[in-house]
Amino acid sequence: MRGRFVDHRFIRQRMDQKDARMARETAARQGAMALNIPTLAEVEADRAGKSFWKGKTRLQDVVEDRKLTTVTDKQFRAEVWTRDKNRCRCCDRKVQKILGRVPERGEVHHVHGRTGDLRFESKCAMLLCLICHERVTGKVNDKLVIVPTKFVEIKGEKYTDARAKVTFREMR
Ligand SMILES: [Zn+2]
Repeated sequence: MRGRFVDHRFIRQRMDQKDARMARETAARQGAMALNIPTLAEVEADRAGKSFWKGKTRLQDVVEDRKLTTVTDKQFRAEVWTRDKNRCRCCDRKVQKILGRVPERGEVHHVHGRTGDLRFESKCAMLLCLICHERVTGKVNDKLVIVPTKFVEIKGEKYTDARAKVTFREMR
């Protein structure tokens, strides 16, 4: 029966106070995050000798890194496809993004390999159809060699400038 005499105004007041406190805490936390300083809760936990989560976990680092790589790779490929107007630079065949191994499949070729600084460097990459790509990479007997007409300097090294015209010489 005591429940019938609960002062609802009092409960309401207490709830408002709690909301206000939570809002203050959230604001303080966000402010501390923006300034990269520990929050009061972190300082108190540290003083009490308790462990407190301070930064990103390794998994979060890995996930973020992967996200960055994917975006860069996507941008790099889009750049090459657009610049080469969806055509094979060798045989001028119109190519598409196809999963299957058909001649019309377009592939981004790294003229100087895909390691280090050149991995996402569109200046040193070109669009080729599956057939020409296999010939250029030497997967079939009649190898094609890319002959540049222009060079580009990246970090002191000279590379084939794939933005300029290139010719393909047959090596038999
Ligand atoms: Zn081709």
